[in-house]
Amino acid sequence: MPQKLTVLIIEDERNICDFISTSLTSQDYRVLTAYTGKAGLSLIASQGPDIVLLDLGLPDLDGLELIRQVRSWSAVPILVISARTGERDKVAALDLGADDYVTKPFGSSELMARIRTAIRHSHRLNGADGVQQPFCYDGLTIDFDRRQVTLHGEPIHLTQIEYKIVVYLAENSGRVVTYDAIISHVWGPYASTDNNRILRVNMANIRRKLEENPAEPRYILTEIGVGYRMREG
Ligand code: CA
Repeated sequence: MPQKLTVLIIEDERNICDFISTSLTSQDYRVLTAYTGKAGLSLIASQGPDIVLLDLGLPDLDGLELIRQVRSWSAVPILVISARTGERDKVAALDLGADDYVTKPFGSSELMARIRTAIRHSHRLNGADGVQQPFCYDGLTIDFDRRQVTLHGEPIHLTQIEYKIVVYLAENSGRVVTYDAIISHVWGPYASTDNNRILRVNMANIRRKLEENPAEPRYILTEIGVGYRMREG
């Protein structure tokens, strides 16, 4: 029998904890729960979960501080459960090394999809084969080895910068990527604040080339105030 994947939920609201726990158990995950940040940290260290679901508003420890501490020694995927409406906490959590977030209230199918994506992505990063499979989603194909993008078999001509953005989003497909992360990946860590505008211009051009209706994108979604998310390939 295959080993069950272990999910640690760090969340002080017990009804949310129970809801998540029930959904996960029915999907054959092994579930651990912690109602405080300190209990969560010690379970991460002692149990080595495959993924951590983390509420940012904990009674004893700020969730952002917990991410900072965990990331100093562990690459375990962290999925933030965010009740907060402000985008700033989400961005801060992602920039500290969280993998993604779900905003309360969320449905269990959305949560399951996010969990699968985060775990798959961490396995891919740890994979040793070094071969990058082409990204494919609904007619869009990105062949990383040939550096070629095609849409329903037709080659799409992207500028060097546009290509870099698309590839970075595809490598992270299914996950949100913050504006800052894209900018520092494409233009380097010393990029100017004007790059926000340049990124938006590039994204508009990318969507014109890829999307049938750029106002309702199919491939690259906007997470307002946070960043972009490419559909999972
Ligand atoms: Ca809370």
